[in-house]
Amino acid sequence: MEMEFENLVRENIRELEAYSCARGEFEGAGAVLLDANENPFASGYNRYPDPYQRELKQQVARLKEVDVSRLVLGNGSDELIDMLIRTVCVPGRDNIIVFSPGYSMYEVSARVNGTEVRNLVLDDDFMPEWEGIFERVDERTRIIFFCTPNNPVGNVIPLDEIRRVASRFDGLVVVDEAYIDFADVPSATSLRGECPNVVVLQTLSKAWGLAGLRVGICMAEPGLVKYLNKVKPPYNIGSVTQRMALEALKNVDLFRERVEEIKQERERVLVALRGMACFERVYDSEANFLLACTPCYREVYDYLLAHGLVVRVRHIPPRLEGGLRITIGTREENDLLIRVLKDFR
Ligand SMILES: *Cc1c(COP(=O)(O)O)cnc(C)c1O
Repeated sequence: MEMEFENLVRENIRELEAYSCARGEFEGAGAVLLDANENPFASGYNRYPDPYQRELKQQVARLKEVDVSRLVLGNGSDELIDMLIRTVCVPGRDNIIVFSPGYSMYEVSARVNGTEVRNLVLDDDFMPEWEGIFERVDERTRIIFFCTPNNPVGNVIPLDEIRRVASRFDGLVVVDEAYIDFADVPSATSLRGECPNVVVLQTLSKAWGLAGLRVGICMAEPGLVKYLNKVKPPYNIGSVTQRMALEALKNVDLFRERVEEIKQERERVLVALRGMACFERVYDSEANFLLACTPCYREVYDYLLAHGLVVRVRHIPPRLEGGLRITIGTREENDLLIRVLKDFR
């Protein structure tokens, strides 16, 4: 299936001639580089980085089993969220659809860009109300954001439903899969070909353990990638980050081992929390965190803090009352959490 992104992309960006940076124009090694006003004295960092992160992308492409032409890398996926909104949403005119409770960056980025946000409340199972979506979509709706596994609950949205929405919708369906490596479900990248308007976001911040590096991955149709590359700041990922990320991605065995351990710990902590009187409900999760709810969430939060444990309050009425989002730590950290919680009150 082909898609014309020309009708979706903002006119000013369609017509924009991308800023052509020195390191983007010249490729190759062994040359005397007098083109970018760099300092000639070698420091390890005196040269500008590859603006298209070619080596790193090749490694990402192999890992994710997608073509390099479908990849855009960002300074974290937060930068990619912002880039997507700026590429297709005309400020003051267009709108996006998000779900609550959910990840708040979609809304923040949209508001910064003068884009209206239409907030749909998830149902009791933290699922979108599928029929209700199209009551809120109009000709100015440019993006629908799904987050799966969802933050802060950790539940997964079935791909069949995402496929159904994508095939009925003219804009982009952005599927944020920041936690997909902790889940036992296929990625929405499997919809490529079938749903050209589906854009998948992943990140090295969570399962890969590289939050400090800031590397986000966007997987989309090459026809859209072309425009995202125009909007992208030319040197958005530094050379040190590119090199460190490339090294880390080579160690797939360690990655798998750690993800497996976090998943096992998640199940162990889940059982422990469910056995505690202080929580009314602890949700199943396919991510690296658990959402535990209690009317006395404030007291539990303060109590944990007093014992040196920091969790996140997720009290987001109307759907989510008194939630504490607890990230899965190391075995020792989780032991401490459980031990401290057992003595609550
Ligand atoms: C943590 C998280 C991200 C990651 O953002 P980065 O900028 O890549 O660190 C993206 N989406 C969701 C839902 C998250 O929870």
